[in-house]
Amino acid sequence: FLNGKSAIVTGSTSGIGLAVARALAGAGADVMLNGFGDADAIEEARAGVAALGSGEVLYDAADVGDPAAIAALVARAHDAWGGPDIIVNNAGIQHVCGIADFPPEKWDAIIALNLTGPFHMMRAAIPHMRARGWGRIVSTASAHSLVASPNKSAYVAAKHGLVGLTKTVALETAQQGITANCISPGYVWTPLVERQIPDTMKARGLTRERVIDDVLLAAQPTKEFVTPEQVAALALFLCRDEAKAITGANLSVDGGWTAA
Ligand code: NAD
Repeated sequence: FLNGKSAIVTGSTSGIGLAVARALAGAGADVMLNGFGDADAIEEARAGVAALGSGEVLYDAADVGDPAAIAALVARAHDAWGGPDIIVNNAGIQHVCGIADFPPEKWDAIIALNLTGPFHMMRAAIPHMRARGWGRIVSTASAHSLVASPNKSAYVAAKHGLVGLTKTVALETAQQGITANCISPGYVWTPLVERQIPDTMKARGLTRERVIDDVLLAAQPTKEFVTPEQVAALALFLCRDEAKAITGANLSVDGGWTAA
């Protein structure tokens, strides 16, 4: 159902973004991958995504913390396919530290990537969406867009801000065939999380199961990780015509975290 539509998914060389890119490509969209990583691994991922659908899949190394790079990213997708019709603001970073010691440069980097990057993406893409009378903006927020945890001031502020930005853009585009929504995952099983388990087992002298239940999933009532594919399935649904009335929403996929 996305044949002829074009999509940019930021931070799609791994984790949630890669799963979203796979879902969009599988539905027929042309997809621009983005993110950092080993060149061979990225090419392997690109070819794997391309094999899922009939659209073209390209990769762009834009740093989403850099407004000029975002403008070039959107222009490249536009030149290749028209649009972009779909943007998925997914690239994000975290830094864990108390407020008094929080490095100002980490604050600036997190706000730049997790909040200002989506602003520049939307600003550049929306005129193209308006020209075609159709658009879908999906941003990966977090349970931390709704609740806080200690030592995550920049991340929590950026994710709360991303929800406010999304609501505003939803109102500005409400009569133009464009929707803007956030998806707010809880703890998602990504390679990044998996890699933390052995170190945490060693540091705390815990079994793998205790690390998962008592450390990683302490806040998640289901005691199960969300999967990248579950997040991607919702992002794909938001791109359907049936989802045109869903705009300005912040949809939780968090195993009950924010119900507690
Ligand atoms: P990940 O580390 O697996 O993926 C992050 C992606 O962003 C990678 O492709 C990376 O290369 C890319 N990236 C990093 N810096 C970038 C930059 N400056 N410019 C462009 N790309 C950049 O992480 P993930 O878990 O898949 O997270 C994706 C999004 O989901 C983030 O916004 C994150 O805050 C959010 N999220 C993750 C979880 C979780 O538990 N994993 C929970 C809630 C929200």
